[in-house]
Amino acid sequence: MRAEDVVGLVVGLGVVIIALSLYIGLIVLGVRIAKRKNRSPHWFWFAVHPMGLIITLIVMACLSPLKRCPRCAQTTQQAARLCGFCGYDFAATAYMPPPQGVYVSPGGY
Ligand SMILES: [Zn+2]
Repeated sequence: MRAEDVVGLVVGLGVVIIALSLYIGLIVLGVRIAKRKNRSPHWFWFAVHPMGLIITLIVMACLSPLKRCPRCAQTTQQAARLCGFCGYDFAATAYMPPPQGVYVSPGGY
């Protein structure tokens, strides 16, 4: 084996390792975005193909984040008022009790 061949082999291996780590890094990044948006990271099984990785990354970046129901832990659209699985009222958690000292008559008068 000539010296040039060895250099070529080492450079080639280096390029492959850099490309692979970049590829895996992008998958990890995508899975992190998916988790942050409460989306399933299993979408990144499409990333076995480099084209699938790019498409999945773009789609994941464009998707709106989901919110997790505190009662049944299912994910629902961010804008939803009620949980689609258990009917949990998301607005109820955002409800602020009336400030102290302000008496609200239960009778309505
Ligand atoms: Zn729920």
